[in-house]
Amino acid sequence: MNLRDYIRDIPDYPKPGIMFFDITPILKSPKALQYAVDGLAERFSGCGASKIVAAEARGFLFGTPLAVKMGIGFAPVRKPGKLPYKNRSVTYDLEYGTDTLCMHEDAIDPGDKVLIIDDLLATGGTAVGMVQLVRETGADIVGSGFVVELGFLDGVKTMQNAGVEPTCLLT
Ligand code: AMP
Repeated sequence: MNLRDYIRDIPDYPKPGIMFFDITPILKSPKALQYAVDGLAERFSGCGASKIVAAEARGFLFGTPLAVKMGIGFAPVRKPGKLPYKNRSVTYDLEYGTDTLCMHEDAIDPGDKVLIIDDLLATGGTAVGMVQLVRETGADIVGSGFVVELGFLDGVKTMQNAGVEPTCLLT
């Protein structure tokens, strides 16, 4: 199966000049979704992860089934004001301005081995924000996985500079 066939390119969304990679055709197809989750699981088999960390909203769509398949827990990362219990947060730089990500303070434990998951690696800002959040807990990061990588945006380099090697199903 070629997963690329299940990603729809939407020009000028959400603003002019941006090519948006719409992964909803993957979700629509049980075969493609299974293939994507299996592909990530295969790449991380034996990595020793004890928890998956993924950011809202599309990271949840791949992170949660992967956690079920790997038999490990899942920790959601959300925008401020969305998580009901005590939060830890990180504010990180974007090209223009900053963004903040939050996680429940007890979502991961100090000895956890964390796998960071998202649908798409663009600039790497979101993923590095998750790396910072996880490291503040004292947990280790054993890898990061993405369905798609936008090669021209240097997300891989940004992640490598943060000390985490990204794995992408489509490059
Ligand atoms: P970044 O922080 O720049 O690596 O962006 C990654 C996050 O933004 C992911 O959670 C993606 O869902 C979303 N994203 C960024 N750029 C795109 C794009 N061109 N198409 C679809 N999603 C995108």
